Amino acid sequence: MADYPIPERGNKTALQLASTPNLDFIATRGTCGLVQTIPEGMTAGSDIATLSILGYDPAKYHTGRGPLEALAMRIPLDEAEFAFRCNLITENDGILADFSGGHISTEEARGLIAALNAAIPNTWVDKGWEVTFYAGVSYRNILVLKSRSNDLKFREEKEIGGAPPHDIVGERIEDYLPKEAVLKELMLTSKDVLDTHEINARRLAQHETKANMVWLWSGGKKPMMPSFSELYGVQRGTVISGVDLIKGIGRCVGLDAIDVPGATGYFDTNYKGKAEHALRCLEEDDFVLVHVEAPDEGGHLRDIDLKVNAIEEFDELVVGPVLSGLADNFAATEAGYRVLVMPDHYTPVSVGTHTREPVPFAIYDSLAPQQQKTVGGFDEPSAKKRAGTVLDARSQELMRLFFRLE
Ligand SMILES: [Zn+2]
Repeated sequence: MADYPIPERGNKTALQLASTPNLDFIATRGTCGLVQTIPEGMTAGSDIATLSILGYDPAKYHTGRGPLEALAMRIPLDEAEFAFRCNLITENDGILADFSGGHISTEEARGLIAALNAAIPNTWVDKGWEVTFYAGVSYRNILVLKSRSNDLKFREEKEIGGAPPHDIVGERIEDYLPKEAVLKELMLTSKDVLDTHEINARRLAQHETKANMVWLWSGGKKPMMPSFSELYGVQRGTVISGVDLIKGIGRCVGLDAIDVPGATGYFDTNYKGKAEHALRCLEEDDFVLVHVEAPDEGGHLRDIDLKVNAIEEFDELVVGPVLSGLADNFAATEAGYRVLVMPDHYTPVSVGTHTREPVPFAIYDSLAPQQQKTVGGFDEPSAKKRAGTVLDARSQELMRLFFRLE
C-alpha cells in the first residue's frame, strides 16, 4: 500500500487518494507510527518484511523464498535439498519481458511444469542431480534440487540464484543469470522445452504472452526458527494469504496456514472470503494474519488507479467486515481485541518495485480506544507526523507493542 507523493495527483500518496474509512478508524482511534521492516542492506520484499514484522531477524532466518514457499506447498525438504522460486517468465529476444509469464493461469502453469518434469529430470541424473519441479499458483512455482555427489556444493547459508525477476523486466537476461552453472543450464534448457509447447502455441494464437522460460531465484535450505507461541505466548494462530511465501513463513513458525477459495494474490482475489475465514479462525485462534497482495501488484504495474482501487477494496471488504465482526464477537469480552494494519513494504508506482522506507502502522485496542484524532487518517504523512522513534520490526518492537508485552 505504501507509496510516495504522486505529483500528477496533487502530491498525494495512494493511501491518501483512496477512500479508506475503516483503516482511518483504526488510525484515528489507535496508536499510529512508523516501523522499519526492511533492515539496512537487505532486499526489500515480502519475505524479508514479513519475517521482520513477526519479529524474526531475516539476517538470521532468511534462507530464501524458495524453501519458505516449498514448506507452504507442503513439499518435504530434507537437509541436503535446496528449494528455489521458479517463476514462469516471458523471454523475448534475450530480454526478460514479463516476470509473470503474462500472469499465466494456474491450470496452464501446471501443464508447463508437467512438461518440464517429463523432459528434464531424467537427463540430469547422470550429471549427479536430482531435479523436481512443483506447480504452485500461477507463475509462482518451485524447483527442488539435490546434489547426488559431494563435489558439487552450493554455499550453505546464503540465498542463491538469479536476480529477482520483477526487478529486471526489460533487461538482458544474460546479465542477470545465476553464477552457479547448474542453475544457468537448467534455465536455458527450460526454454527449449517451453517455447514450442502447445500451451504457449495456444497463448500466442490468442495474442497472450508466452511463458517460455523458468527463472530460478531466492534458493536455499529450510530455516530453523523458534515458534511464534514461544516468542509471544500465542497459543494458536493462522495465516491467510494467496501467496505461498507468506503461508510458508507461517508454517515455519508453528502457525497454521489455510487456503481460502479464490485467494489469488492478485486484483481478482476473494477479499470477502479472507475476512470471513479470519473471523471464523478467531473463534478458536488467538491470532490471525491476513495478507493481501493486490496493492503491491498495482505498484509493480505503475498503475495508480489499480493500486488505489485495490486499497479501497481491501478497506471495504477485509478491514471493515473484520472490524465489525470483532466488535460483535469480542467487544463485550474481558480480553477485548486488537487490530494491527500495515503495508509490509513500499511499492511506489513511480518506481515499479519495492523500496525500503519505514512503513506506517496503526493498532486499535478495543480496551483502550483513543479519542478520535481530527487530523489525518491511515497514510504515510499522518503516520510520520504521529510517529515517535521509528520502531525496529526485526527486534520484535512492533509485535511486543501489539501483544502488550512491554
Ligand atoms: Zn511486490
